[in-house]
Amino acid sequence: MKLFAFCAALTTSALLISNGPSTREASATQGNSPLDRLIAGNQRFAEGKPTDFHESVERRGEVAKGQRPFAVIVGCADSRVPPELVFDQGLGDLFVVRSAGEVLGDAAIGSIEYAIEHLGCELVVVLGHERCGAVDAVVKGGELPAHLSAFTPAILPVVEGAKKKGGDVLDNAVRANASRIARQLSECEPILSEYVHLDKLKIVAARYDLDTGAVEFLDAKKPTSTLHEAPSVHGIEKPNHGH
Ligand SMILES: [Zn+2]
Repeated sequence: MKLFAFCAALTTSALLISNGPSTREASATQGNSPLDRLIAGNQRFAEGKPTDFHESVERRGEVAKGQRPFAVIVGCADSRVPPELVFDQGLGDLFVVRSAGEVLGDAAIGSIEYAIEHLGCELVVVLGHERCGAVDAVVKGGELPAHLSAFTPAILPVVEGAKKKGGDVLDNAVRANASRIARQLSECEPILSEYVHLDKLKIVAARYDLDTGAVEFLDAKKPTSTLHEAPSVHGIEKPNHGH
């Protein structure tokens, strides 16, 4: 069953991203798993003890020859949640794709595919965050102007689900939004779904706390087979399950 229409050709835009090595060595150079490295980095950041070991002139020269990021971060464009800072990483460490509310389009998904297939990343983290303005705008309802309206159909289904659930609607929607995007990416054919199926790629959702600086990983151990109610987002088609 084809779950997503897109996820196909990576054309010139992807090839412009990097001339880095086409290997799967990205995480092999470090002892810890990519997820461990992110957890440890976030802990340093949250404690106010970030390092700067990957921001030096030497590091800049090293990565100028080619990039080998060890993880992809799909994050919100919010200025308070820069992934490199939040995870205490530096030049060449993270391959970052950002848009408000982590809403993805074709070009963004193509960028993720490039990082997996050509740069050897083995982890994708979809990073939502506390009090996300994009999610909040949909929670509050009403017409969003101009191109902002593109966010509504992508986020509205999780907002509706969060409203039914009750409690902190905004925060529940933030969590559900990140989890939904992670699931959809896991089933995005042909590239991402194949890497996940072969256990060469993990895609997990997370929530960043604006107040504490801590990243909480969501659903990290759950299977990715519960996507039947997933809404469509721009560039990702709703799964066709026959009715
Ligand atoms: Zn946001």
